[in-house]
Amino acid sequence: MNPWVRATLQDLSGSAVDLLVIGGGITGAGIAREAALAGLAVALVDARDFGAGTSSRSSRLIHGGLRYLEHGHLRLVFEAVRERAILLRLAPHLVRPLPFVLPAYKGDRVPRWKIAAGLTLYDLLAAGGNVPRHRTLGKRALLQREPLLRERGLTGGAMYWDAQCDDARLVLATVRAAAERGTLAANYMQVTGLVNSGGRVTGARLRDTLTGDEGEIRAQVVVNAAGPWADGVRRLEDTFAAPILRLTRGTHVLVPRQRVGNQHAVLFTSPVDGRVMFILPWTEAWTYIGTTDTDDVSGPDDLEPRESDLVYLLRSANALFPAARLEPDDIISRWAGLRPLLAEDPGTPASSVSREHRILRGDAGLITIAGGKLTTYRRMAAQVLKWVFESLGRTGDGPGSASEREPLPGGGASVIESFRAPGEELGLPLATVEHLLRTYGTEAPAIYALCRERRELMAPLHSEHSAIAAEVVQAARREFAVTVDDVLLRRTHLAQETRDGGGAARARVAELLAREQAAARLPANQPSGDRD
Ligand code: FAD
Repeated sequence: MNPWVRATLQDLSGSAVDLLVIGGGITGAGIAREAALAGLAVALVDARDFGAGTSSRSSRLIHGGLRYLEHGHLRLVFEAVRERAILLRLAPHLVRPLPFVLPAYKGDRVPRWKIAAGLTLYDLLAAGGNVPRHRTLGKRALLQREPLLRERGLTGGAMYWDAQCDDARLVLATVRAAAERGTLAANYMQVTGLVNSGGRVTGARLRDTLTGDEGEIRAQVVVNAAGPWADGVRRLEDTFAAPILRLTRGTHVLVPRQRVGNQHAVLFTSPVDGRVMFILPWTEAWTYIGTTDTDDVSGPDDLEPRESDLVYLLRSANALFPAARLEPDDIISRWAGLRPLLAEDPGTPASSVSREHRILRGDAGLITIAGGKLTTYRRMAAQVLKWVFESLGRTGDGPGSASEREPLPGGGASVIESFRAPGEELGLPLATVEHLLRTYGTEAPAIYALCRERRELMAPLHSEHSAIAAEVVQAARREFAVTVDDVLLRRTHLAQETRDGGGAARARVAELLAREQAAARLPANQPSGDRD
């Protein structure tokens, strides 16, 4: 059985696993991987596509969280910078070092000396990590690096390093790593109820949201990693469970990089309201601006960015880069995610609520993990696994260091460079090869192999994007893609990175997917054409 194709309801219903994980965002994927590495029989289900929740709607940073230093969360920052170093090693194609410029202006809430002290502390906490140390810069040196920044009031600033990731593909890589280790992984598989026997949760009721079919899976332990939906899942165990989450919306907009003119990532305080924001380069062509942090959320499905959020982001960026003059029509795409923050202190302003997570066990044994961030998902998973082992009554083993050592699929830094030449020899343009290396790392040869078998798969899917047809085949065969949106939004990002939302690629993607799905339905003894 191909581990990278969605497990069916039949696969799951017939199974009795040690651990069922509800939610295939980064948190659930990380737990499944950690548990599978520890030798448990695991199932991982998501009601939508893997990563379709918050985990593909982030600021895409793997970062220590410089601003948490201001709130004294030293331990959180220390853990995060350590995880940053680990992820840069495990998945160098998806997690890449990113230089930041931090401009300082007259009258800023945080004075320059405090920024310098904070960055020194940041470096110290990250000692031995794999990004360069910060440098403080005078006004002229700063403007040399970021010539289009507003000059008025600028006093200098600093450069420091963090990391940027492809959040959706980091989730996928983590799910695939878990599946490689035997995890039954199914997207579009919703948990509609929990099975309870003798006062304990012993499984879950499942609904295949593609077919409407229903079934049940048995599991010794069930973990709720449903992010913003976690309170809803907790109510499947206890109808009266009090909410533990407070949801805030974070919106981003993608705009042409040339319009902004930023050379680096920029961390700044919005001249509109003094909140910390980012302007982040994504590709040569695009830059994104984020984020808002607003409380006007009606529930976990309320993901539509508000018009006022878009205006706020553009105004803030225009104030920092006056030549940009960004207008709503310049927005290529937008995305909003809900932060599953802990509701411990409802009086705290949204942006100063700690992103720390919390693990709790319900009366019938359901383990819930709430809060956290992308950056620390591996660490969170290891902690949850300890709880799982406790529930299983196992002692002596538990999470090992394998998740810290084993590269994610496509990881393995040293060999990535050697995959450039074979791509070019095949006749792919350099830009396409670069895109494939960034997306697939050491798995790029799998795409080349598809291109060799069927030359038409070398064709771009869209005139404004480097993605090629072979990637749809890869997505269907090895990346759990089921729908056209899975491919456009989370496997290739065509939906976000083209002016028509990937519209021009839709028909071709649908055709390629349908062909793969038809071939997969063939009985095993029938020839399957050119499938591998
Ligand atoms: P999700 O990704 O939301 O996953 C939960 C999953 O559970 C969903 O896919 C959902 O479909 C599924 N689910 C729900 N109910 C059910 C059910 N009944 N049955 C089956 N499945 C179900 N962190 C960083 O480290 N760096 C950043 O730059 C960063 N930026 C952020 C920016 C924004 C705007 C936001 C909102 C968050 C940001 N974060 C960042 C935090 C980080 O993105 C989140 O903490 C993380 O993605 C949460 O992942 P999760 O798996 O817990 O939740």
